[in-house]
Amino acid sequence: MSPPVVDVDIFIAGGGAAGLTLASRMASNGYRVAVASSSIAATAISTGRVLFNHDDPAVAEWASLFLTRFRSRESNYDLLERPTVAMTNIGTPLKQSLTNSSFDWTLEDRDVAVVGVIGNNDLDSDLACLELRRSLGICARPLWISPFPYPTAANNHFVGELADILKDNISENTIVLPPISSDPTYALLTKLQNLSGKRVVEAATPLSLPGLRFQLLLEDVAEEVGVRLLKDRRLISIKIHGKEANEAVLSSGMRTIIVKFSALVLATGNLASGGLAVNGRGVIDPLNIFRVSSTQASGIHSSTLRNALSSGLDTCKGRAITKQGVVIRNVIPIGSLLKGVSYPLGYGLGEVMLEAWKSAPIVEDAL
Ligand SMILES: Cc1cc2nc3c(=O)[nH]c(=O)nc-3n(C[C@H](O)[C@H](O)[C@H](O)COP(=O)(O)OP(=O)(O)OC[C@H]3O[C@@H](n4cnc5c(N)ncnc54)[C@H](O)[C@@H]3O)c2cc1C
Repeated sequence: MSPPVVDVDIFIAGGGAAGLTLASRMASNGYRVAVASSSIAATAISTGRVLFNHDDPAVAEWASLFLTRFRSRESNYDLLERPTVAMTNIGTPLKQSLTNSSFDWTLEDRDVAVVGVIGNNDLDSDLACLELRRSLGICARPLWISPFPYPTAANNHFVGELADILKDNISENTIVLPPISSDPTYALLTKLQNLSGKRVVEAATPLSLPGLRFQLLLEDVAEEVGVRLLKDRRLISIKIHGKEANEAVLSSGMRTIIVKFSALVLATGNLASGGLAVNGRGVIDPLNIFRVSSTQASGIHSSTLRNALSSGLDTCKGRAITKQGVVIRNVIPIGSLLKGVSYPLGYGLGEVMLEAWKSAPIVEDAL
């Protein structure tokens, strides 16, 4: 039996922040777009806190597509004119441009309790308060509360009970909590604020729920504007004839899918999500097709780490280059798969999404 065939204008391998941003833009411009992703994205394990370069006109364009749709999902994000500061789970400040009332923790707050939940590793309140005092001179009170049943539809008393604990037992006005709800909206935190009369905010935590919520929001918007999401599908090979690619093979366990496209976007991320791999000699393209090189990253002493963080696909006018040096006119790499685009080097969600947004003309040109 021959494998199923998906026929689209634009095929995007990789459904993290970069792939979903570009996919949504292209689908809302009327193109047929499919996005395949094989496993968890770095986007879903990040803190989900986005810092934009506000001088970039693409911020407003990005917001016009995503922000109203986020808000209609009760996620209440606001785009700030200037970045504000969030507190991380270890008590350090983190700048962000997209915020909502549940995670805007400004440095003016002085009457703060940091509340850990016993058994929840996302926020160590003692450690966070130590760091707050050491680095920012802020005296916050560390507190621990017993685990509570996680919020579910079957447990609709949860919010009221937790709000009572915060109101009756904690004197501080601002309360920092670890993320406690996997609900992609921030409705639970808003309810907690309203019921307790306190400013209840969520610490910025990597490897936890906020990144996952951001990922789910991006996926939701992409589907709403017509993107076809192919989850748990790994791009395993690409057919290239001369200077053009026209077919990709996806695999999911025993099953195979063929994708035919006019333009292929590679948004498979870096080492964190499998878009790049390492062998004995360094960082490579796991498809063994494209050329990988590195940038001159400064401030990292270990050459192995520097190489790992700064390596990525090489491009010529936005197009991928094969190991043999051939520029493939309709294969466009974006996001953290590109060389030099890594969070420790100062390029995170904001850069990745804006650059993906701006690559739309290159993709249109390749169609
Ligand atoms: C722990 C952690 C914390 C971070 N915190 C922050 C933060 O606070 N703020 C910030 O701005 N940035 C942060 N970052 C960086 C940020 O997450 C990345 O810059 C961003 O998510 C990269 O997006 P992307 O779309 O390029 O890649 P990803 O989000 O990694 O998406 C790539 C996708 O491609 C898929 N894929 C890979 N290979 C294939 C294949 N062969 N076929 C199909 N799909 C494939 C992957 O499964 C994944 O779904 C953090 C990163 C990490 C790891």
